[in-house]
Parts: sequence; structure tokens; C-alpha cells
Amino acid sequence: MARIELRGVAHAYRPSPTTDADYALRPLELVWEDGGAYALLGPSGCGKTTLLNIISGLLRPSRGQVLFDGVDVTVAPPQQRNIAQVFQFPVIYDTMSVHENLAFPLRNRGMSPGEARARVEEVAELLELTGDLPRRASGLSADMKQRVSLGRGLVRRDVAAILLDEPLTVIDPHVKWLLRRKLKQVHEQLKMTLVYVTHDQVEALTLADRVVVMNNGRVVQVGTPRELFERPLDTFVGYFIGSPGMNLLPCAVEDGAVVVEGQRLALDAGVCARARTAGGELQLGIRPEFLRRVPEGTPSSVRVEVTQVEDLGRHKLATARLGTQTLKVRLPEDERLAPGETCWLELPPPWTTLYAAGRAVS
Ligand code: ADP
Ligand code: MG
Repeated sequence: MARIELRGVAHAYRPSPTTDADYALRPLELVWEDGGAYALLGPSGCGKTTLLNIISGLLRPSRGQVLFDGVDVTVAPPQQRNIAQVFQFPVIYDTMSVHENLAFPLRNRGMSPGEARARVEEVAELLELTGDLPRRASGLSADMKQRVSLGRGLVRRDVAAILLDEPLTVIDPHVKWLLRRKLKQVHEQLKMTLVYVTHDQVEALTLADRVVVMNNGRVVQVGTPRELFERPLDTFVGYFIGSPGMNLLPCAVEDGAVVVEGQRLALDAGVCARARTAGGELQLGIRPEFLRRVPEGTPSSVRVEVTQVEDLGRHKLATARLGTQTLKVRLPEDERLAPGETCWLELPPPWTTLYAAGRAVS
């Protein structure tokens, strides 16, 4: 297993990139620690596959260096990097049996048939493929084929890292859940460096110890699931993670206070001052889970009008109007509030973030 470092890595698919927009991947610095379970999370087209292929060596970056345990492998081909990669769609040999498919990466590396058989059986059991080992791969469903692909990725013990590019896309939702759990279990046992690409926040947050969030060719934040929830450093992280995402309200800073839709909220004076000098559009961010209904006149609260209340079983989700803005509020299930009512909501300062041009001001 290896520690992987990206130094000033950037990539443009077009030959002579000039502007920022020409880059599928903007210059970035990233370290993947040995044995870590990482998710690479972001919307379609943000550069996840590009980044993954640069790590595996399928793609040579336009700029920067890739290091494995301190050794520069930027121009080394995939075989020399000793990486297992699982793609979005199954990559298996149709003419071989499931067993032969799983044994192939091992035999290829000169493992004895006996040892290979033992490894194959172990992985097959993990992925619930034991009964299918003698079957020909061509007869399998897409879902089963992808399980075999996953097995081919997991079968080797000596890889520097395992990279998975949205591997559960073609998998049936029920099996998806099972495989996600298995993968986590495998990581806990083997502690390999694991990079799991997904556009699904639930998948990322349940599987990974650390999540690398990407948007528009940039890494916007790297953090634990908890950090991303509690301290989004970028408005993108705020609204992309969470369901619903963070409330983001355009605001202004006046005399050491934040003004939202004509209502004043006291906020740390230093933060207010830095927000003014940072420039760009100012927004106040607070997650629906952190807003609290409070009595009138409570410090750090605003007056809102409730427009909708949805009962979601264990809690309620209210929609409220603050001037021309809309807020989502998570309320306890016993909270009685009806559309048309006016109430006060507290924005507790520890959970309220001021953003300038989309970045958190601290
Ligand atoms: P993701 O995996 O997050 O969906 P990709 O890394 O595949 O994103 O793509 C990032 C950007 O690069 C997209 O705008 C995509 O259209 C572009 N792109 C990806 N592959 C190629 C390619 N082979 N040639 C040109 N542009 C590409
Ligand atoms: Mg992709």
C-alpha cells in the first residue's frame, strides 16, 4: 500500500490551454495517506475520473507530479504503479469462467494455482459469488458481472491502492447496499489505500473516513463526513452535502452585524471585518438541522413566516419565508407549527457561517 501525493497536478484535454475554463482539472495539491478510505465526491463532469486516471497512470497530467511513497511516477505506466482499478462498467473476460476471471490478475503475477485458488475462493465468498465460480462470465447479468469486476480489483493483496470509479452504478439498489458494506469491511480488514469515486453523498459519507469534494475541476474541501457537515468551507459543500442542503442567504455586513432581509444578526466582529475586505457576494449559511425555534427577542434570531410543514416521521421539515428568501428548517416531531404562522428562528453563532464569494470567512 502506498501514500499518494499529487503536487500541482492539472489537466487539460485540449492541446494548448490558455484560460482556466480549458482545464478539466485545475491545479491541485492532495495527499492520500497510506491505508486511508477516501471518497472522491462531486457532480458529473467535475473531473473525478480525470483525477483517478491520473493516479492510476491511464492519463498523464498536463502539469504537476504524482508521487507514490515519495517516488515520482508521473510518467510511469499503470502496470508499474501496481494499482487495482474498478471502472463504472464491468471489465471482464466473457469467454472465461468467473473463477478464471478472478484468478487472472493473480496468475498474471506468477502466483501458484493453489494459492490463487485460495484467494479466489476467499474473495468469491466475500462477494457472494461462490456458487457462480464455475459459470461462464458471458451468461451473467450486468449486476453479477460488476461484482466479478469488483472481485478482480480486490483479489490482489499486493496493490499500492485500489481505485473505484462509480463501481455500483449498474448494480441493483438492494445489492448496492450489501456491496457497500462489504467494501467497508474489506477495507477494515486489509487497510489498503482506497479511493472511491461517487456522485452520491450517502455512498461517500458511509464508506469513507475522508471525503474529497470536487466541483468544476477543483477540490473545494477535504474532510471527515462530520467536518463537511458541520464546517462547510465552501457554499458548494454546504448545499451539495445534506438533504436538504445548507440554507444560503444573501446578506450584507453593516457596523459589525450581518443584515439579512432587513433583519440584523450579531456575528463575530473580526469575521464581519474580514468578510468586507474579502470582497465578492456575501452569504450567510446555516443548515436546516441547526436552526431552532425560539421565543421572540432571542439573540441571533430572525422572524419568519412558515409556508409549509412536511411530516417526515421522526422529524418535521418546515419551509419558511424570510423576506424574499426561503429557509428550510428541521423541527422535532412534536413541534406544532402550521403554514401561515409567524415564528422566531435562532441561528446559533457556532453553526452559522459567513461566505464571501462562496468561501467561508473565518
Ligand atoms: P467526472 O468523472 O467527474 O464525471 P470527468 O473527469 O470524466 O468528470 O470529466 C471532466 C471534464 O473533462 C468534463 O468536462 C468532460 O467533458 C471532460 N473530458 C473528460 N474526458 C475527456 C476526453 N477524453 N476528452 C476531452 N474532454 C474530456
Ligand atoms: Mg466519471
